[in-house]
Amino acid sequence: MKSKFVHSSKESRSGDRASCLISVTSTEKKVEHSVIMASISLGIIGVIDFAAVTRYRPSGGSFVGQKLNAEMRREGWRKTGQKVNASPMAQAFFPKIIRETIVHRTDQRSRAAFSSLIMPPVDTDTSPIKARIQELIDTYPVVIFSKSFCPYCKQVKELFKGLNVTFEVLELDLIENGSNFQDVLLGMTGQKTVPNVFVNKTHVGGCDKTLQAYKDGHLQQLLGAESAMYDYDLIVIGGGSGGLACSKEAAALGKRVMVLDYVVPTPLGTSWGLGGTCVNVGCIPKKLMHQTALLRTALEDARKFGWEFSEEVSHNWETMKTAVNNYIGSLNWGYRVSLRDKNVNYVNAFAEFVEPHKIKATNKRGKEVFYTADKFVLATGERPRYLGIPGDKEFCITSDDLFYLSYCPGKTLVIGASYVALECGGFLAGLGLDVTIMVRSILLRGFDQDMANRAGDYMEIHGVKFLRQFVPIKVEQLEAGSPGRLKVIAKSTETDEVIEEEYNTVLIAVGRDACTGTIGLDKAGVIVNPKNGKIPVNDVEQTNVPHIYAIGDILEGKWELTPVAIQAGKMLARRLFAGSSVKCDYVNVPTTVFTPLEYGSCGFPEEKAIELYGEENLECTVPGRDNNKCYAKIICNKLDNDRVIGFHYLGPNAGEVTQGFGVAMKCGVTKEQLDSTIGIHPTCAEIFTTMEVTKRSGGDIKQTGC
Ligand SMILES: Cc1cc2nc3c(=O)[nH]c(=O)nc-3n(C[C@H](O)[C@H](O)[C@H](O)COP(=O)(O)OP(=O)(O)OC[C@H]3O[C@@H](n4cnc5c(N)ncnc54)[C@H](O)[C@@H]3O)c2cc1C
Repeated sequence: MKSKFVHSSKESRSGDRASCLISVTSTEKKVEHSVIMASISLGIIGVIDFAAVTRYRPSGGSFVGQKLNAEMRREGWRKTGQKVNASPMAQAFFPKIIRETIVHRTDQRSRAAFSSLIMPPVDTDTSPIKARIQELIDTYPVVIFSKSFCPYCKQVKELFKGLNVTFEVLELDLIENGSNFQDVLLGMTGQKTVPNVFVNKTHVGGCDKTLQAYKDGHLQQLLGAESAMYDYDLIVIGGGSGGLACSKEAAALGKRVMVLDYVVPTPLGTSWGLGGTCVNVGCIPKKLMHQTALLRTALEDARKFGWEFSEEVSHNWETMKTAVNNYIGSLNWGYRVSLRDKNVNYVNAFAEFVEPHKIKATNKRGKEVFYTADKFVLATGERPRYLGIPGDKEFCITSDDLFYLSYCPGKTLVIGASYVALECGGFLAGLGLDVTIMVRSILLRGFDQDMANRAGDYMEIHGVKFLRQFVPIKVEQLEAGSPGRLKVIAKSTETDEVIEEEYNTVLIAVGRDACTGTIGLDKAGVIVNPKNGKIPVNDVEQTNVPHIYAIGDILEGKWELTPVAIQAGKMLARRLFAGSSVKCDYVNVPTTVFTPLEYGSCGFPEEKAIELYGEENLECTVPGRDNNKCYAKIICNKLDNDRVIGFHYLGPNAGEVTQGFGVAMKCGVTKEQLDSTIGIHPTCAEIFTTMEVTKRSGGDIKQTGC
């Protein structure tokens, strides 16, 4: 298809001697058609190769085709297949071209002479170049012979980028003998212009033909030829939040998808089904046990409001555990069914790379099967970290065991101050157990410390004991049993003090390690941060190996949350297989810590906001409810219309409250907009519509009325 530009101005005088016929792109037309013809008052018709113009101008890149097109469009030229007239701008623009073209005629002989003027003489032996071109075509699925300045080449590159297809580009203007390559390509394909596109050894053509091939699906078919070499279009390693979302979405887009999920049992032998951390040993059982604990508080409230029931209230761990496990079981089953319904091939086996496009899957009986895929998504998640002290793996549990514990843990020591530690310690205390949390330094690292400490303070009121600035050095078993008796020896981080204490259960919650060490990433060439095992990716979750992507908890510097993994997985599948360019937005992700008094947040903690914007540019507004220790805080950027950049809420139903404000923050809510919002009364969340006391003022935030 030719692409010509015509000026739409009324002054156009077709046929006038001051008109010029311009055929700007027409990249797959023969050279004869890919020309700029100029016929201006000089009365000389010149024909020059458009690409040659861009080379020939002494100013080099400034007069590139892209600029010419843009200028022409601005001046009112429009695309047509017709003869065109020059606008005043074009007339001012073209004299140089005309001067350059004066010496040339439209006949082949003069054009050849012209070529010899602007290009170095072609080496008569072109076989090495031809061999090199053939090698590129044979080696890479997509090869684009291009010129770095060419807007049509750029268009084609953007197309492949949008399709998330890896391509090789040879910029002919940046290599010494680029024009020789172009000549050889002409001989091979009948096309001299760039871009000159090859997909899976098939010559597609130039820009227009490639775009057309995309429109009519031919390009996708050609690209598919690559993946047909493999068993699957996509293999997802890890059937957790991110992996399941990604695999189902890819299958729904018609791709051949396999997902492998395998749970390595804990040192104490605990194992579970399909669905990953969230469903089996994370969000879901945690929230159910947290709710169980809240019921006790509700029972206490109930009495105060007139409910009468026997004084003796007790909790049965086994009943709770069975209910929680049954619920998890139903979710495991639901996931299997939905994978089957969506035509995702689920394999319960441990996957590891043996080659960049090949994995080995080992099932629990040790049977090995090999599978290949065009693309891979890593979604292997994390597992609890151990302390590396005597007795930790033998006698201690982690959150991976807690939700399946067949007996009530009794007097429990929780080691760590992560959200997992505080949540587990919180609900165990809520169930009426004797709970101590051993903290090395601070609570909830990375969260707003003002809020974290308030959540901790409430836990103490709630009955949790904190042993601060201590680390365990040894765990000994005093007596086996369900639960048994353990002795924990710990030392102070500040003095030489060493203490010992007896517990029934020790729960380690000191962080989680990415499951990336045993999956053969070295065989695939994927780079991992050696310090933490996390995988660095670009903004489209692509690792350093173009056909291997990663999502979820294993990503370097990203949120470790279920909805984030799910969103990233879905978006990735759509980008890989549906031409989408929408990326996962990791900014302003709302989250909640399910401590006895829940803590929801979105945006920056106060410390980070101060670091980024400076204290003088921020305003924190803080009402509290002294009677029940609820606390709310927003951080506004004074330099940006008092936009809310941090939202913090300590109170009941924090997850529900924070979710809504998370949306508002995505929309860029300001303090003024919060103030003009009418609250829902009586709720805790309404407080955000009536916040007046700034932290700086030190004003009284005690609530006296309703
Ligand atoms: C106690 C706890 C509470 C949590 N609470 C919340 C919460 O309230 N809200 C929230 O948003 N998030 C919460 N999270 C975090 C949330 O669970 C994770 O962010 C989420 O599950 C991460 O999803 P993922 O897909 O990255 O990995 P995962 O869900 O962990 O899935 C990874 C899967 O891959 C499997 N696997 C690993 N290696 C291989 C291999 N080589 N071959 C085959 N399979 C493999 C694993 O066994 C696992 O099934 C909690 C986590 C914990 C531990």
